[in-house]
Amino acid sequence: MGRLKSTAVFWVVRRGGLVRHAITVSPCAHAPNSAVEGACGAAVTLRLPTPNDRVPKTRTVTARCAECTAAVGRLGARDVVWDS
Ligand SMILES: [Zn+2]
Repeated sequence: MGRLKSTAVFWVVRRGGLVRHAITVSPCAHAPNSAVEGACGAAVTLRLPTPNDRVPKTRTVTARCAECTAAVGRLGARDVVWDS
């Protein structure tokens, strides 16, 4: 995990996912439907953004990937819970 140098991690839910994975790049920097590598090595395909007038489905997802948790715990990075 030497590649992880970020000062913030973004906890995102991939499409159809029920747990949050941590990514170290801002989800804003990625096109919808593109895959990003999670801290645990899983490919995370970002969901399409939810229209502003609706509550993102991901809002209710609180479970976090155990491997991502272990990986980012060593970083001391700021946690950002990201809904899309
Ligand atoms: Zn993960």
